[in-house]
Amino acid sequence: MNVLLIGSGGREHALAWALSASPMLTRLFVAPGNAGIAEIAECVALDVADHAAVARFCKANDIRLVVVGPEGPLVAGIVDDLLAAGIRTFGPTAAAARLEGSKAFTKDLCARHGIPTAAFGVFTDSETAKAFVRTQGAPIVVKADGLAAGKGVVVAQTVAEADAAIDDMLGGGFGAAGARIVVEEFMEGEEASFFALCDGRTALPLATAQDHKRVHDGDTGPNTGGMGAYSPAPVMSEELIRRTMDEIIRPTLRAMRAEGSPFTGILYAGLMITARGPRLVEYNVRFGDPEAQVLMMRLKDDLMLLILGALDGVLATMSVRWRPESALTVVMAAKGYPGAYHRGSVIRGVEAAAALPDVQVFHAGTLREGGLLKANGGRVLNVTALGRDVQEAKARAYAAVDLIDWPEGFCRRDIGWRAIAREKA
Ligand code: ATP
Repeated sequence: MNVLLIGSGGREHALAWALSASPMLTRLFVAPGNAGIAEIAECVALDVADHAAVARFCKANDIRLVVVGPEGPLVAGIVDDLLAAGIRTFGPTAAAARLEGSKAFTKDLCARHGIPTAAFGVFTDSETAKAFVRTQGAPIVVKADGLAAGKGVVVAQTVAEADAAIDDMLGGGFGAAGARIVVEEFMEGEEASFFALCDGRTALPLATAQDHKRVHDGDTGPNTGGMGAYSPAPVMSEELIRRTMDEIIRPTLRAMRAEGSPFTGILYAGLMITARGPRLVEYNVRFGDPEAQVLMMRLKDDLMLLILGALDGVLATMSVRWRPESALTVVMAAKGYPGAYHRGSVIRGVEAAAALPDVQVFHAGTLREGGLLKANGGRVLNVTALGRDVQEAKARAYAAVDLIDWPEGFCRRDIGWRAIAREKA
């Protein structure tokens, strides 16, 4: 079977790596891909915002399955358009992708169906929003409704900070994404990510992970797309996984079906593990990046088979097996990220790093030019390793990082600290 994967990040390299292990695969195309993906698949320069062009490419190349990596095309309705063109496509429709595309939609859905999340209000007017902040007090969280690449959330420590965030967002600072805002209760606890594969009716629990959003060691500095991750997350006990499935994931799937937009795809719940149990922080409607990298390292089963099971609506009859080991990934980024950074610096030593046992180096922003591997983005490489526990996976990942010669790059040195503290306790 010929497959087209959409995306260009480390997540898509990991998905391409898993898909290419499937005995069902004939040719794997990735649009647009990157230098690492080009080693295992055929990269194609398609404008993925032009859904008709993607459909024409699929027809011309006998594509029998399209897998969509990032949220942008999902929220823009690529699944609806490809399905309408008769092409099997894995991911939610635009209506189901509102779970990520609109925070107000998700919060209202939670309220209607009793799904545990922070108390909230939705506002388009700053005076009413500020009045709500006065009734709640600080700390309090202010969020732009739409997609804002992880930058549309302000955890305000004071009422004045919340007021400033409200003025900024409703004042046009986030364009259309901020025309509506959610103001919500600050939840105390440890964050964890939970992934489920969904076929509209049934959710198959996949795995847990934890990421590291801040750019510097000790979780300091500005937020990023993610500087590292590991799976499983030791904080997620069997009991917490059961409660997450029963109280959050399954009710969401039921609610989406009852309201006429059944959810097919990867449902990624950002959770806060509070004293009263798991509560939903946010939904994403696709794999995380870099969480996909650690999940794919641990996945024992054929990813393609699981995806086809979701599309055929037969997940109720399926299960998924994982390696018992932990996986950990370290993101190497260009100096300056998440602010301004340079492209084009030369990276050496990736082959030596990737040759270590139980190590995979997934590429994000890379390109090959004149035989040289060069940085072509903010987040550039994801050095990923397996180990008996997070501590061993971490040691292996950093041994590989240390073989990479890239003076213009940097990484955090403390990925995994929270899990390792638990492992040692
Ligand atoms: P992401 O990049 O994770 O997709 P996002 O912009 O969609 O981010 P959220 O995940 O909703 O936004 O929030 C970002 C971060 O802000 C969370 O990971 C969490 O650390 C913090 N946060 C959000 N809501 C709350 C809350 N109600 N209480 C405490 N912290 C919160």
